[in-house]
Amino acid sequence: MKIADKLLGVFGCSRSFDELLGFAVANIAHEMAADSCSIFLFDPSTRSLQLRASSGQPAGHATAALAAAEGLAGTALTQMLPETKDHDSGSVLAVPMALRGQPIGAIVVQTTQRGPYTAEQIQVLFEVASQMVGIVENARVFKTLAGGKDLEKKPGGPEGRGERHDGEQVLHGVAASPGIAIGRAVLRRAYAKQPAQQPSGPHDDAAERVRVRDAFEKTRNDVARIRDAAARDLGEEHALIFTSHLVMLGDPALHERIEEVVASGLAAPAAIDAALGEFADRLRTVGDPYLQDRVEDIDDLHSRLADHLVLDGRGGSLGTQIVVSPHVAPSLVMETKAQGAHGIVAELGGTTSHGVLLARSLGIPAVTGVDDIVRRIDPGDVVVVDGSAGIVVVRPTPETLARFEKRAQDVERLRTEFAKYRHVPARTADGVDVSILSNVAFGADLALAKENGAEGVGLYRTEFPFIVRGGFPTRDEQVRIYRKAYDAFPQGPINFRILDLAGDKFVSTRGAAAARGAFHGYRSIRVLFDYPHVLRDQVQAFALAAGRRPLRILVPMVSSVDELLRVKQMTLEAIEQVVEPGARGTLQFGAMIELAAAVEITADLAAHVDFFSIGTNDLIQYTLVIDREDPRMTSVNDAYHPAILRIIRRVISAAHHAHKPVTVCGEMAARADLALALVALGADALSVAAPEIPGLKRSLARASIGPLAEQIDRVLACPDGLALQAALREAVTARAEDTA
Ligand code: PEP
Ligand code: MG
Repeated sequence: MKIADKLLGVFGCSRSFDELLGFAVANIAHEMAADSCSIFLFDPSTRSLQLRASSGQPAGHATAALAAAEGLAGTALTQMLPETKDHDSGSVLAVPMALRGQPIGAIVVQTTQRGPYTAEQIQVLFEVASQMVGIVENARVFKTLAGGKDLEKKPGGPEGRGERHDGEQVLHGVAASPGIAIGRAVLRRAYAKQPAQQPSGPHDDAAERVRVRDAFEKTRNDVARIRDAAARDLGEEHALIFTSHLVMLGDPALHERIEEVVASGLAAPAAIDAALGEFADRLRTVGDPYLQDRVEDIDDLHSRLADHLVLDGRGGSLGTQIVVSPHVAPSLVMETKAQGAHGIVAELGGTTSHGVLLARSLGIPAVTGVDDIVRRIDPGDVVVVDGSAGIVVVRPTPETLARFEKRAQDVERLRTEFAKYRHVPARTADGVDVSILSNVAFGADLALAKENGAEGVGLYRTEFPFIVRGGFPTRDEQVRIYRKAYDAFPQGPINFRILDLAGDKFVSTRGAAAARGAFHGYRSIRVLFDYPHVLRDQVQAFALAAGRRPLRILVPMVSSVDELLRVKQMTLEAIEQVVEPGARGTLQFGAMIELAAAVEITADLAAHVDFFSIGTNDLIQYTLVIDREDPRMTSVNDAYHPAILRIIRRVISAAHHAHKPVTVCGEMAARADLALALVALGADALSVAAPEIPGLKRSLARASIGPLAEQIDRVLACPDGLALQAALREAVTARAEDTA
């Protein structure tokens, strides 16, 4: 059912929110073969539901039926679950609408024609509701924006920044994703006001309006192109984030406001500055976090429009851009990939933040933690990103540029040399075979994993389709997504991780909202205990995707045997609802070891799982109490803290004692010296981002594990990270020399 697409069409040419809702209820009633459909929207000021649109004849007495519908809508929204009620005169079904932690409303359908709504029909309406949320929320944003007519705010003008920057600047940040990228800066989610935006020469209304139209047209084409590329390269679900941009570009109130400002005598860039700046300000003052989040979208559009108006193509072709942004959000990385930009520079984002992990897995060089970068750079500036050294050079001199171009060539040569190792087995110089798997987050990773010679998927992070939706993909959508993993690796192994919601992997439900920004407490499987239908749908989707093939399910953030058993039981029950035990392949469970509590009880957990996976990103975060999203806190050297390798030694030893294999799937497994240490400690497999695989195989091939294993206790006995790193380097180098 493509109600969302139909609504999008209507939205572009309609001024009225009520018209939009009227169209929606009529369509939903028709598609659901219902007698009536009603949409209730949540009013945050009164914290109550308001009937906003209804179609058809509700069953029985209209007022009573509507009251019943409202009651059911309220329950659905409170529970965040579909609610059904069957009575003599028919059935009523209510599904909630929520986004990024905010209750939005509910859709209610009623019928007298048949018995209770089936699970499939409930699922269909649930899907419609999640599609509707974005559309309804865009309408709400526009309504909020249209609400104030405070046009007195001084428009345009160079504020905050605007001073031209000259000369080379070398900036230091965090080496987030390796590689060298050279290109021209384009700002995303941030906007640079330019002195050039002031009108020069006599003002010509008509000409300025044409400039505005032209910039909108080009921006719309850009966004549509990125959306299509995202759908093609990354998967349909990743294209969703760009749909709301398109809706916003079509907002009649925005266009009207820009025209007004142009008519008041300002040039096109200043008019866009004024209108978008004013809209963003209004959203900032609304006490609704969802609406406040949309400021980012407005800033993003602002930067795109400015590229066309001010830079007039000087920003360079999409393929040569360096994206500069305050944050390195996963959506930004997807966009960067989809539009073919070369590198990323950001102010925030630690080495294991999820945006950074994505950049690494997609092979996009990135430097994060560069203070104030958005203010220090002008769009169109030439920028060098050295993601291996954590250096950004803005406006390099010809000599600097030549030096980095040479380095980029060297890196490329090395990459070609590493590529030879893609399809050779991972084996150390002294003949120890190591299983190398890939971490995967979305469709494109699977192709990369195969291309780089992964033996399977050591960690399938399943959060991204949820994140980009800001809601829940349906079970069928999930089946389609997970099946692709089996298409890529028919023989497996594929370790599907159960949805691991957290501060860094935020998804929109009211419950998960509580976990936003919080890495402790209410996260991961604990959230799923409150939302059992989410867990049910996901594990059923795993099982349906697997069919008769082996299914391996990884439970994240395990902290007790109790929790593990509860997840296992819920999973088994859910799977049995869709696949008979005799009709499926083997089912194995694994536990992720990421918490100190899990480390202590590895032996107890071993009795209930078939394998373990050590998530060192969170293990390091929780052991050293450092926020993995915060570049001020994290360093690639954290992994050398002796506590980390000693913990890993204990976990491997306890697991092996129970004959259970251990994979290490955090980022440290990709670093040559640490990877060798992990193998020396007995890790059975390493799971890393796909582009890291050839280099890792090469490092293994050049080292002997036996002698290192003999020295590993001495290395781990070092009292601090620096000493351990030096001892490890010495042990590894000595071995490499021995075998040379
Ligand atoms: C980890 O914590 O190390 C891990 C692999 O999981 P994620 O990075 O997805 O939290
Ligand atoms: Mg983790």
